[in-house]
Amino acid sequence: MSQTTQPTTDQGEKRSFQAQTRKLLELMIHSVYSNREVFLRELISNASDAIDKVRFLALTDASLTEGDSDFKIKLVPNADARTLTIADNGVGMSFDEVVEHIGTIARSGTEAFAAQLAEAKTADAPELIGRFGLGFYSAFMVADAVTLTTFKRGEDHGVRWHSEGGDDYTIARVAPDELGHGRGTHITLHLKPLPEASGDDTADEQDFTNAWVLKQVVKKHSDFVSFPVVMDESRTEIERDEEGKPVEGAEEKTFVEEVTLNSMKALWTRRPEEIEDEEHNDFYRHLTRDWGTPRDRMHLRVEGVHEYTALMYVPERAPVDLYSREAKRGLSLFVKNVFISDEVRELMPEYLRFVRGLVDSPDLPLNVSREMVQQHRLITSIRKHLTKKWLGKFAKQLTNERETYEAFWAEFGPVVKEGFHYDIGSKDRLEKTLLFRTTHGEGWRSLEEIIAALPEGQDELYYLTADQLDTARNAPQLEIFRSKGVEVILLTDPIDEILVSSAPDLGGKALKSVTRGDIDVDKLGAKAADAESESQDDESKSDDETLSPLLEKLGALLEARVEKVQVSGRLTDSAACLITPESGITPQMERMFKAMGQDVPSSKRLLELNPGHPLVKKLVDLHASDAEDARIGTYAELLVDQALLSEGGQLDDPHAFAKRVTEVMAAAL
Ligand code: ADP
Ligand code: MG
Repeated sequence: MSQTTQPTTDQGEKRSFQAQTRKLLELMIHSVYSNREVFLRELISNASDAIDKVRFLALTDASLTEGDSDFKIKLVPNADARTLTIADNGVGMSFDEVVEHIGTIARSGTEAFAAQLAEAKTADAPELIGRFGLGFYSAFMVADAVTLTTFKRGEDHGVRWHSEGGDDYTIARVAPDELGHGRGTHITLHLKPLPEASGDDTADEQDFTNAWVLKQVVKKHSDFVSFPVVMDESRTEIERDEEGKPVEGAEEKTFVEEVTLNSMKALWTRRPEEIEDEEHNDFYRHLTRDWGTPRDRMHLRVEGVHEYTALMYVPERAPVDLYSREAKRGLSLFVKNVFISDEVRELMPEYLRFVRGLVDSPDLPLNVSREMVQQHRLITSIRKHLTKKWLGKFAKQLTNERETYEAFWAEFGPVVKEGFHYDIGSKDRLEKTLLFRTTHGEGWRSLEEIIAALPEGQDELYYLTADQLDTARNAPQLEIFRSKGVEVILLTDPIDEILVSSAPDLGGKALKSVTRGDIDVDKLGAKAADAESESQDDESKSDDETLSPLLEKLGALLEARVEKVQVSGRLTDSAACLITPESGITPQMERMFKAMGQDVPSSKRLLELNPGHPLVKKLVDLHASDAEDARIGTYAELLVDQALLSEGGQLDDPHAFAKRVTEVMAAAL
């Protein structure tokens, strides 16, 4: 096997870890994470993935597993050398694959991650590890050096990778037979010294060369792994007579036998009520590489025309890459316990992409290809059914477990709302999952609650879009609604613009923006307000007449910035606000389109003035006494500036604004 006399190993080369990887390693090495034993689950999980892969590839290329199809993961502890080797006969890695997968953190190369990592302190390790699920490197929680040797069939050499956790690693090509394993990966951990024996048992529990410890850890965290996790165990026996007494003169014989440490029972094939939470948690981590615990799960067995089992989880927190196109999504697919593919996007709609898990169906052929999966009618029907189930579950939770649901919604609500665009067929179901912030209190309100509170005769749901909740709450456009006690929905997620344009009504009530087009102010609020509004009518007519010369003047002065200047019915306290013409696009929409790389002509908005405001009244007087007063121009610009600022918008020319303010201040002093 590995008796090489010739130096078949090349000298290898030193390579530096990427800055990110180095930082991660440092976190792992100094990790205060108490639950270090989980490194084993991570490495077993990788081994199991590698076997899944080769077994799947062998469906189309049998030579890959020829002569070695007894799949297993072997643990080889060595107490004297203080090493633990985890060996698999999985797919192995080529030189480039080792560099790509082991030398870097490929999957986590997002900017958000890099930023968090750069700032992270050692104490943040568990949290970060949880968010990014960094399997392989967890080895450095227990080892001060790691050697990985791997061989992939079809390559003419193997690869050895070694790192002591510093800034660099070495990588070398080795002869395949030096590895003594025709295919797969061996990972040897050079374990850190044991903590001083302290009288209690903790020291022993951390000894990962101890067979008993390994058995416990595998049973606890990797029991469901579908390939045997084995270990050699020696047993001494002595020949005994019929009464069980050792035969005189007989010698003790030592047998080495391979024992299997896990039950290999796929979790999803077990009865839901028999599965412990902790088993789900480990399985979830195995499947998703997320170290957190799921916040929700669903385990379904469907029988009937088609038969399948689904086991799905909702993560505690949204993954950092939830909105990136490359993010992992979809469910894994199994056929009769055999892994077929992960990330089958066709099994979950895009707007439930945070749901992770698997589907196992005996009704699909074992050699089903990716393309077949995409077109298979069974897959479509599974997706529809699972979607229905989840939306139904969310609606139930909204009613029965409000607090839990609100936490879920805060994390994933913006994604669910995408459904209004992508799956309008599920609109009724989606509506029952909605929670909104509104002008009614600080908390969340369900659509049902909002509709139930509508004054009789109000057929519209009023909403306001803004970038932030604070800005939304203080928007001048809300003033009249506040004063009449009309609840307004505050929309602050980028997706909300799409929601309101995809769903012209919700729960049968037309959606109407408070910052857009005309608002029939008199119709607002309870019927009781009717009498009052009639007298207001008269007032506003006379307002119009006295105001119109000023409005015209301002309109001309501000031609470049606004479409028109008009009297507002929306304002009670503020002097002015901006609104969007009925058919125009809002600033939020404009920004959204730009973010999506779509160019949109920016549309001019309308400036509305509050006729009752002292400033507006003074402007009317000023204009009446001298229509050509130069100050009117400055004030006009300032009205637009402050209306923009108060809705959280940005000024095209902040410098000009500052100059105007200074001018006005200087004049007033
Ligand atoms: P993840 O498993 O989430 O991808 P890991 O850090 O655990 O992240 O592993 C990184 C990658 O290294 C794996 O995706 C795989 O490509 C490769 N890898 C790790 N262990 C093995 C192994 N035993 N056999 C083959 N490839 C492996
Ligand atoms: Mg892994």
